[in-house]
Amino acid sequence: MRQFDLAIVGAGIMGLAHAYHAANAGLRVAVFERDAFADGASRRNFGMLALVAQSPGRQLRSAERSLACWQDLARNANVALHQAGCLFLARTPEELSVMSECQNASSTQDARFELVPPDALPDHAAVLNPKRALGGLWSPDAWKVDQRLAMGQIAGWLQSAHSVAFFTQTEVLGIAEGIVETSGGTFKAGHTVVCGGDEFGTLFPDAFRHAQVGRCRLQMMRTRPQPKGWRLPPFLLGGLSLTRYEAFAACPSLPQLKAHQEKNRPDHMAHGIHVILAQEADGSVTIGDSHAYDGNWSAESSDEIDRLILEEALALVDLPEPEIAERWIGHYAHLSGEDALIVRPDPNVTLVTMTNGQGMTHGFAVAEDVIRTVFD
Ligand SMILES: Cc1cc2nc3c(=O)[nH]c(=O)nc-3n(C[C@H](O)[C@H](O)[C@H](O)COP(=O)(O)OP(=O)(O)OC[C@H]3O[C@@H](n4cnc5c(N)ncnc54)[C@H](O)[C@@H]3O)c2cc1C
Repeated sequence: MRQFDLAIVGAGIMGLAHAYHAANAGLRVAVFERDAFADGASRRNFGMLALVAQSPGRQLRSAERSLACWQDLARNANVALHQAGCLFLARTPEELSVMSECQNASSTQDARFELVPPDALPDHAAVLNPKRALGGLWSPDAWKVDQRLAMGQIAGWLQSAHSVAFFTQTEVLGIAEGIVETSGGTFKAGHTVVCGGDEFGTLFPDAFRHAQVGRCRLQMMRTRPQPKGWRLPPFLLGGLSLTRYEAFAACPSLPQLKAHQEKNRPDHMAHGIHVILAQEADGSVTIGDSHAYDGNWSAESSDEIDRLILEEALALVDLPEPEIAERWIGHYAHLSGEDALIVRPDPNVTLVTMTNGQGMTHGFAVAEDVIRTVFD
């Protein structure tokens, strides 16, 4: 029977982040992935390492530690990573007030925000039409990875540079007393970390039920490639994001903005819509997203939600090629007020699930702490 120091269930970013730290610590690691490649949340997202969205202190430190690992992977594993920055556009005085408060507060904290007058918006993205906005808030603290390629690149490098064993199309069926039963045979492992994303129903369902973790469902889409030369370098966000991100939680006029949005944008608020646009390397623009919680959704994606997302996106920027080429649904685990759920249902097993919808941003820091705790 093949034997490893660490078995990992799932080859999404959380599984790979654990494999990265364990392999760096010299452990013998095996990763088991049910599908031919990880097709969960880790490749259905914006590829945004959103330091900009974090509250100062512990949360920001965690995102910074993770970023250092991504930078290491960019150097060594050829993972495409660049500092895109992030621009929030204000279209109402209420949004502008929150942005202005955020800039004032950032001079005393470690976040970096700069208020941008309308006529300076094209300095950050030449394609923006200053007449559409009252101003903007710029932060350099957002990095873009190619989410469609990164998991494969990291897995390939872990395999070739660190001899991490990958078993794809291999479902883990059960784990008990150091034995990992899979659809491809039985393995021995000193410890097993389960990084199955929002999969709670199979392995250790009781542990997840006790933790009362839920699921969030998001609608996303991507345009055809924009014409050559049309570039949107930063992540572009609107005012709806201000009421979702921790970075703005301490702004005194945030409650007024929230009340304004609830009165004037009830449909967007009801579907948890806040809009992010991210241009991909091939010129296409990824646009999202909506948030529905705990099964409160129908099986199909909703045209109405797509329409609301696009309406908001096109109010932020004129896309020369607005035709949507791809639509998809993503899911992640959700637990109010918690960034990650870490449970040890058995001395030899740890379950690790990001619960704040920001596994790309925090995953490597969370995994580093788990590996340190387990292997001392
Ligand atoms: C639409 C959307 C947008 C997002 N945008 C961002 C963003 O821009 N920035 C950010 O930081 N975060 C973002 N997130 C959140 C981030 O994508 C997730 O937190 C992260 O990808 C979770 O990673 P994971 O490895 O836990 O889960 P997943 O990527 O879902 O991977 C879990 C893997 O486990 C496998 N698996 C499960 N059970 C088994 C089993 N029994 N045996 C074998 N394999 C198994 C699955 O097949 C799957 O491949 C977004 C999420 C979504 C859905």
